[in-house]
Amino acid sequence: MSTDIEPREHTELRAAVSALGRRHGPGFDRAALWAEAGKLGYLGVNLPEEYGGGGGGMAELSIVLEEAGAAGAPLLMMVVSPAICGTVISRFGTDGQKEAWLPGLADGSRTMAFGITEPDAGSNSHRITTTATRTEDGWVLNGRKVFVSGVDIADATLIVGRTSDARTGNLKACLFIVPRDTPGFGRRHIEMELDADEKQFELTLDDVHLPADALVGDEDAGLLQLFAGLNPERIMTAAFAIGMGRYALERAVGYAKERQVWKTPIGAHQAIAHPLAQAHIELELARLMMQKAARLYDAGDDFGAGEAANMAKYAAAEACVKAVDTAVHTLGGNGLTKEFGLARLVTASRVARIAPVSREMILNYVSAHTLGLPKSY
Ligand SMILES: Cc1cc2nc3c(=O)[nH]c(=O)nc-3n(C[C@H](O)[C@H](O)[C@H](O)COP(=O)(O)OP(=O)(O)OC[C@H]3O[C@@H](n4cnc5c(N)ncnc54)[C@H](O)[C@@H]3O)c2cc1C
Repeated sequence: MSTDIEPREHTELRAAVSALGRRHGPGFDRAALWAEAGKLGYLGVNLPEEYGGGGGGMAELSIVLEEAGAAGAPLLMMVVSPAICGTVISRFGTDGQKEAWLPGLADGSRTMAFGITEPDAGSNSHRITTTATRTEDGWVLNGRKVFVSGVDIADATLIVGRTSDARTGNLKACLFIVPRDTPGFGRRHIEMELDADEKQFELTLDDVHLPADALVGDEDAGLLQLFAGLNPERIMTAAFAIGMGRYALERAVGYAKERQVWKTPIGAHQAIAHPLAQAHIELELARLMMQKAARLYDAGDDFGAGEAANMAKYAAAEACVKAVDTAVHTLGGNGLTKEFGLARLVTASRVARIAPVSREMILNYVSAHTLGLPKSY
C-alpha cells in the first residue's frame, strides 16, 4: 500500500511494526506479541511520555494496529486498553490513577477492558442502567454488561455506569475502574463464532464496592469524558478492519498470481482482478478517512473527530467485509479450507460492522447530524 502522504516517522513505524507482525505471523501467540510490542513501545505510542508512553496520538496508535493486522496478527485489545482506557485516564484521571495505570498500559504489562454495552440497552447507550451509588467511603455498583472483550486477561475493566444526580434526579454517565477480582464482579464467557484469542463476556456487578478513587474524572462531565474515549475506539476499529482487509487481500493477490487453470494465472481474468482492485481502492479510501479522523482527534477537535471517526469506521468495516469476501472467492475451494485460513475471517470481518457502533447507527448519525435530516428514533 502506498503511504506517500505520511511523515517519514510514520512510514518507519509502519515498517517496524509490519516486520514484527510478520515475524509472529498468522497463528501467532497473542500474549507473546503483546509483550514484545509493549516492550518496544508500540502499545503506548499514544500515551504521555512522562508515564512511559511515546507522546504521539491516534495517528501513531492506529498505524500499529493496522500493520499488526495486515501481517495477520491483530491485537484486538489495543482498541480498548491504550486507546479508550489509556486516553480517558490520560485526559481525565487523577495523578494517582495516571501513575497507577499509564506506565503498565504503555508497556503492555497491564491491560484494561472496557464495558459499556448492556443487554437491554444495546446500541442505545443512553439507556444503560448499571448504577453507581455513593457510600461513605466510595461507591457501590450494580448492573449487567454484555459482549465485553478480554475481561479475563485484563487487570481491570473500565465500566460505564450512571449516578443519580441528587439535584435534578437525572441519571448521569460516569466511568469506574473495576479490578478483575473485586468481590461481586462476575463474568460468564459468551461462546462466539470467532477464531480469536480475545473472548467476550457477560458481566454481573452485584454490590461491587469500590473506593472513592475508582471514579475516573469528574462525575459531572461523564458524557464528555466518555466521548473522548469513544472516538479513539472508532478510529482503532477502523485500523483493525483495514488491517484485516489488507491481510486477506494480500493473500488473495498472491494466490491469483500463481494459480493457473487455463492459459494464464486466474488473476489475468478481470472477473478476479477487478474485485481485488476495487477492494484495494476501498481500503485505501477508508484509510484516508481514518487518517483524517486521527489528525482531528490528535489536534484536540473532539467534535470534528467524532464525525470523521464514525465515517472512517463505517468505510473501513464495509471495505473489510468486501475484501475478505473477495479474497475467499478468489481462492475457490481453498478459500474455505482451514489450511489457507481465510474462511475464519468471514465472521471476524463482520465484527467492525457491528461494534462498537453498528453501520446503521453511523448512518443515523450522518443523516441527522451531518445532513440535518429528521431523526426516526
Ligand atoms: C466481537 C465483539 C466484541 C465486542 N466488545 C465489546 C467490548 O469490549 N465492550 C463493550 O462494551 N461492548 C462490546 N461489544 C458490543 C458491541 O458494541 C455491540 O454489539 C454493539 O454496540 C451493538 O449492540 P447490540 O449487539 O446490542 O445490537 P442492537 O443494539 O440490538 O442492534 C441490533 C441491530 O439493530 C440495528 N439498530 C438498532 N437501533 C437502530 C436504529 N435506531 N436504527 C437503525 N437500526 C438500528 C443495529 O444496527 C443492529 O443491526 C462487542 C461486540 C462484538 C460482536
